[in-house]
Amino acid sequence: MGKGGRSVKRCLKSDPEPLCLATYRNAWPQGTWNEFRDTQCYQTVRSTSRTDQGGLCAYCERLLPENDRQIAHFHPKSDTNGSVNWALLWPNLWFACCGGDQATMVHPDSYLPPTVENRSCDVAKEDNVVDGHVFSPAELPAFPRLFRYEQRTDCMDIAPDDVNCAAAGVAVNLAESTVTTFNLNCRRLSEARMRVHKAIESQIKRLRENSPQAATHYQTLVQRHLSKGVDGNWKPFFTMIRWRFGTTAEAYLQSINYQG
Ligand SMILES: [Zn+2]
Repeated sequence: MGKGGRSVKRCLKSDPEPLCLATYRNAWPQGTWNEFRDTQCYQTVRSTSRTDQGGLCAYCERLLPENDRQIAHFHPKSDTNGSVNWALLWPNLWFACCGGDQATMVHPDSYLPPTVENRSCDVAKEDNVVDGHVFSPAELPAFPRLFRYEQRTDCMDIAPDDVNCAAAGVAVNLAESTVTTFNLNCRRLSEARMRVHKAIESQIKRLRENSPQAATHYQTLVQRHLSKGVDGNWKPFFTMIRWRFGTTAEAYLQSINYQG
């Protein structure tokens, strides 16, 4: 593989990689992740990955607060069988959440009992090798959108978009196993998506009720939700927002030459 991994939203990593990482790997070809975490470069890797991904978890697309962030290895760093040092390979390092495993977190987006059922992302994947069985973010097309969403009571579930997968020549079961591998439909994430969805719906409703130029303002609303903020962050659950705004979203993303 080599392109790294995950899932719902396309994402491109900085190229070239941070110079300090290349330097460290050349000096310590067998260096471990634990050793690397003690270096200044570890902070550079974290901040570069965060910038590359616009602040979103590589797997669930949550916008991550400071105490719910880590660098996750797509291909497990415990695999030391071959010649590749997965621990320090740049395309293998992704900015991700802590997977709902931190009982100290108060916000239900970050932690919701029962813990095991609500584990997601890197924590749900565990040390399994899933290369080739789930989407790799760098290899996902920017267009079309490969996922759609289904509303249940207080939940918004993610599902493969069969039509768009077919149009992109992508196997639907790859999209399905991406959802199951990272447990993206656990209640914690489905409810978090629904909270964002409800907020957007009420914005649309307000706009339609109050604005004489609703159509123009609707365009502005779409742009605001699908652009990076001044802090460089995407809005959480970018792909769901994209789905919600349909053809208007696609037209806007085309117009900005969206690449991921
Ligand atoms: Zn996540």
